[in-house]
Amino acid sequence: MADFLIIGGGLIGLLTARTLSVSGAKVILVERSQLGQESSWAGGGILSPLYPWKYPSAVNELATWSQARYHQLIEELEQATGIDAEWTQSGLLILDDDQREAALAWAPTYTADVQPVDANTIQRLEPALPAVHESGLWMPKVAQIRNPLLIQALREDLRSRGVHIAENTEVTHLLSKKGRIQGVQTEYSEVMADQVIVACGAWSATLLKELGQEIPVMPVRGQMILFRMQPGQLQHIVLWQGHYVIPRRDGRVLVGSTMEDVGFDKTVTEEARDNLAQVACEMVPALANVPMERHWAGLRPGSPSGVPFIGAHPKIDGLFINAGHFRNGVVMAPASAQLLADIVQNQPTMVEAGPFSLDDCSTAA
Ligand SMILES: Cc1cc2nc3c(=O)[nH]c(=O)nc-3n(C[C@H](O)[C@H](O)[C@H](O)COP(=O)(O)OP(=O)(O)OC[C@H]3O[C@@H](n4cnc5c(N)ncnc54)[C@H](O)[C@@H]3O)c2cc1C
Repeated sequence: MADFLIIGGGLIGLLTARTLSVSGAKVILVERSQLGQESSWAGGGILSPLYPWKYPSAVNELATWSQARYHQLIEELEQATGIDAEWTQSGLLILDDDQREAALAWAPTYTADVQPVDANTIQRLEPALPAVHESGLWMPKVAQIRNPLLIQALREDLRSRGVHIAENTEVTHLLSKKGRIQGVQTEYSEVMADQVIVACGAWSATLLKELGQEIPVMPVRGQMILFRMQPGQLQHIVLWQGHYVIPRRDGRVLVGSTMEDVGFDKTVTEEARDNLAQVACEMVPALANVPMERHWAGLRPGSPSGVPFIGAHPKIDGLFINAGHFRNGVVMAPASAQLLADIVQNQPTMVEAGPFSLDDCSTAA
């Protein structure tokens, strides 16, 4: 019998599995389709909240912890698997001129490098932008990864560590007896485990509800479009009025994103595609002359203030949750995995665990 059974093979489940496996635990991961094909694939891979000063300190603490370790993680995975997830310190250039005061007040707490920049500096940093922006903010340390490659690398790494991965296997029920988790019921069989971790992203609330636990995690659709430029034509992540462009090493440029409350609906809309394309061309006029390659949508695991639920179920021993990472699950994933591993193994936690606990959520069980 496994020490831990993790439900959900997005980045949160995958990194939780890796962290527990590295510490010597026997881990099973159960995914209802293929690993990492939901929000973790759809996301942009920016390793920072978009305007971090707008987030609670709990989000910033997880993001900061992860940022300090992401490059090493990507290098370790490349050494182990040969797959390079393209950690790139492309920097984040913010063109909104009303963010300066809040950003500069926030930066010292997290020793973040945030530099006010004028029109000349903006043009020098990113000549592909139109010369209309008079001031902005430059965060040179912000990095990105290519999340689909990170998922591939984690799949190989987990396999080589002996983590048992069951794909195309949906967990239909959590099995508990006398207030203690026993395992899970999948569409094929019962699978027993000492401890069970729910890491089902936007679907986490559905699974927990039947045990009487309500968590306010709900799907928030995000649509993205993809262009293809020449490598290096755009060099930095650029953010303006909530929209962003992310240049990949091969010249591809991701443009995001929408925030839509439409339930579990991943269809893409012409309206969103046209809006995103229009904003993208305003931000980077050269995008009007290159092909749009792709348009997709993903369901973020939305939570009230973007703070994920990481911790023990208040009433069922051995049941844990790691879900609700909303817009920042890629950047917060390594820290979330470590925090949950610390909690399940009764170790001192690397950040204060209180803000992530489920204790304030309602239980009817
Ligand atoms: C358009 C968009 C842009 C984004 N950009 C960024 C960004 O730049 N930076 C950033 O940090 N974050 C970003 N995010 C957010 C980030 O992608 C998510 O917060 C993160 O991927 C959540 O990971 P997860 O593992 O919790 O969820 P998911 O990746 O959705 O994984 C959950 C998994 O659980 C599985 N599952 C569900 N129910 C069951 C069940 N009953 N049995 C078995 N398996 C089950 C699903 O199939 C899925 O594979 C973005 C998201 C979107 C949509």
